[in-house]
Amino acid sequence: MKISIAIDGPAAAGKSTVAKKIAEILGYTYIDTGAMYRAFTWYCMEKGVDCQNEDECVALIPEVTIKLRPNGVVLCNDIDVTREIREPRVSGNVSYIASYKDIRLFLVDQQRKMASKHSVIMDGRDIGTYVLPDADVKIFQIASVETRAVRRYDENIAKGIPCTLEEIENDVRKRDYIDSHRDFAPLKCAPDAITLDTSFMTVDEVVNAIIEIINKKLKEKENA
Ligand code: C5P
Repeated sequence: MKISIAIDGPAAAGKSTVAKKIAEILGYTYIDTGAMYRAFTWYCMEKGVDCQNEDECVALIPEVTIKLRPNGVVLCNDIDVTREIREPRVSGNVSYIASYKDIRLFLVDQQRKMASKHSVIMDGRDIGTYVLPDADVKIFQIASVETRAVRRYDENIAKGIPCTLEEIENDVRKRDYIDSHRDFAPLKCAPDAITLDTSFMTVDEVVNAIIEIINKKLKEKENA
C-alpha cells in the first residue's frame, strides 16, 4: 500500500528536518518541494532574468529539469545546486517564482508523479491543500517567527552560509506574507490537517509526535 504524508507550514518551521528523519525511520521517500521552487529560482537568476517578471520566468519552463536525489542532492539541468539554493539571494526571490501559476503547475505535476510511485513524506506549503488533497496524514507545522528565524540562522551558519539573524527574520516574514497571499495554491492549513506548534519542542519530540499521529491515522484507516 502506498502512503502519503503531507507536512505544510510557514518558512523555517523545521519541516524538512523532521520529514527527513521520519522518512528514514518509516522507509518512505522524502520529497522537498521547496528545493524545487528554489532550484527554479536559481536558474532564473543564473539566466539574469528578473524574478519579479512573470512572463520572463515562465518562458524558461521548457529549459528546466529538476531532480531530487535520495541523498539530498538537488540537480538543476544536471548541475549540483544543493548549496546555492539555500543562499539568501535565492531565499529572497523564491516566493515570487512560487507565485506564478504556470511554474507551480509544472512542478506540482512532477511532485504528484513522485507520490504515485512511492510512499512519500512531502513537505511544502500546499501539499495537503493542493498537491496531495487525499494524503493519508496531513500535518501543519508551525512555530513562532522568532524561533523559526533562530533555527534557520543556526542551520545556515552550520552550513557555512553567511547571514545575520535580522536578515533571516525579515526573509521569513516576507516569504510567509507572499506565500499566504498569492492567488494560486497559497500557504494555508488544510481543514483536515493536524496543527503542531513546535516552538518549544526538540526535533526528536516533533519526530515522535508526528510518527504517533501517522500510526494512529493509519490504524484508524485500517479499521474503517
Ligand atoms: O520549504 P522552503 O522554505 O525551502 O521553500 C522555499 C519557498 O518555496 C517558499 O517560501 C515558497 O515560496 C515556495 N514553496 C511553495 N510551495 C511549496 C514549497 C515551497 O510555494 N510546496
